[in-house]
Amino acid sequence: MNCESSPENKIEMEERQMAMIIDGKKISTQIKDELKEKVEKYKKNGVNICLAVIQVGDNPASTVYVGNKKKACAYIGMESQAYELPEETTEEELLDLVKKLNQDEKVNGILVQLPLPNHINEDLVIQTISPKKDVDGFHPQSVGALSIGQPGFVSCTPAGIIELLKRSDISIDGKECVVIGRSNIVGKPMALLLLRENGTVTVCHSHTKDMKEVTKRADILIVAIGRAKFIDESYIKEGAVVIDVGMNRDENGKLCGDVDFEAVKDKVSAITPVPGGVGPMTIAMLMYNCVKAATAE
Ligand code: NAP
Repeated sequence: MNCESSPENKIEMEERQMAMIIDGKKISTQIKDELKEKVEKYKKNGVNICLAVIQVGDNPASTVYVGNKKKACAYIGMESQAYELPEETTEEELLDLVKKLNQDEKVNGILVQLPLPNHINEDLVIQTISPKKDVDGFHPQSVGALSIGQPGFVSCTPAGIIELLKRSDISIDGKECVVIGRSNIVGKPMALLLLRENGTVTVCHSHTKDMKEVTKRADILIVAIGRAKFIDESYIKEGAVVIDVGMNRDENGKLCGDVDFEAVKDKVSAITPVPGGVGPMTIAMLMYNCVKAATAE
């Protein structure tokens, strides 16, 4: 009997060929629920965990991100302090607030929502946050620790991507990993984390020559460019895992990633959607870093 031609097997084969859609919403909820349990235990022992969030100006996207962070704190039972400062706040005033929060024993994590207005030096603000409270993982000390394999806070988006892969049973060890983008908050720490997990890592950027030749080698392709639907099937190896970090608006104003999801979904073995992929993981990992800041776990 030729089993392969039976209708049942055909359906099974078609199912096998379909890409796994990595559900960042579900995985991030699992992480937040695990943290919620921990936070409750700490509360019972009299330890309250608190994140201070500073926003300067009223950039609408920042307001949404800050709101989501406050909601996540409430969900896991953590306290959040919101500092909503006017656009004309001086650099000195902001630095003074950060220094005050560094000294405040009730505050475990400090997050300054970026971007800051042009008259404020972002690097200086980041460097002023105590490395012990650097829950965004942007302080040079945190970045340095990551690069030499020492413990410290890791930037939330790349840390979230590693969790997504691990919790989806996708092994990184020995895989060809290609990261497109070399920003300080996504691309560079992403490359370091993949290296830490024993991936063979290549980083592409706007000066990379013949990028398709590089990306078509990738078993795991991480895309963080910031260009709507830039990556189509011609960049992808059959069966690759594709992680789309991009958050853009398409021609109809709809949220979309850097990857053309519809064009690549039949070629990949697994892919993250936008929205509902990497985005929710970033906040879950921020909560993870806050709990770590408070409990040194
Ligand atoms: P970024 O700082 O603007 O960096 C973009 C990177 O992409 C740069 O390294 C740039 O290369 C590279 N690039 C741009 N065009 C390219 C091209 N045509 N070919 C190859 N490389 C190219 O952006 P980012 O902060 O890393 O963010 C990237 C995207 O992720 C954005 O859409 C952002 O909104 C999104 N994001 C999402 C989350 C989340 O939680 N989901 C978090 C952070 C960021 P050069 O260095 O040579 O200029």
